[in-house]
Amino acid sequence: MDCIFCEIAAGRIPAKKVFEDEDVIAFLDVNPTSFGHTLVVPKTHVKNFMEADAAIIGKVFGTASALGKILQEKLGASGMNLLSNAGESAGQSVDHFHVHLIPRYDDRTKEALTLEFGPMDLDLDQVLAKIR
Ligand code: AMP
Ligand code: ZN
Repeated sequence: MDCIFCEIAAGRIPAKKVFEDEDVIAFLDVNPTSFGHTLVVPKTHVKNFMEADAAIIGKVFGTASALGKILQEKLGASGMNLLSNAGESAGQSVDHFHVHLIPRYDDRTKEALTLEFGPMDLDLDQVLAKIR
C-alpha cells in the first residue's frame, strides 16, 4: 500500500495544507486532538526521527518551531506540545516521520488531550549503566 503522507506530499491526496516548501509540508491532522493540531512532514519518505538524516531533522524541526510560533499567535494558544511517535508501542500509526504540533489552551474545551507522566520507582544509576 502507498504511504499516505507520501501521497499527500505529492498532492495526490488532499490535505488542509498550512505550509509547504521544497522539503516539508504541514497540514491539519484529520483527527485533531486540539484546535489547530498540525502535522509537519518531510516530503521524502523516512520512517521516523531516528532514521532521518540531520538535514531532514533540521528542516522538520525548524519548520515546527517557526510554525508553532505562528499557530500560537494566530490561534491564541497559551502553550504548545511537540510530539513525534516512533514505533507502534509509542503510538505511531503512520510510518512516515512526522511531528505533531498541538496547540494548548487555558480553555480546555479547545482540546481533547491528556498527557500525564506518572513517576516510576527506578534506580537511575542502573538505567544509566545500561545506556552508557
Ligand atoms: P501517529 O499516530 O503519531 O502516527 O500520527 C498519525 C496522525 O496522522 C494521526 O493523528 C492521524 O489522525 C493523522 N492522519 C492520518 N491520515 C491523515 C490524513 N489523510 N490527513 C491528515 N491527517 C492524517
Ligand atoms: Zn511516505
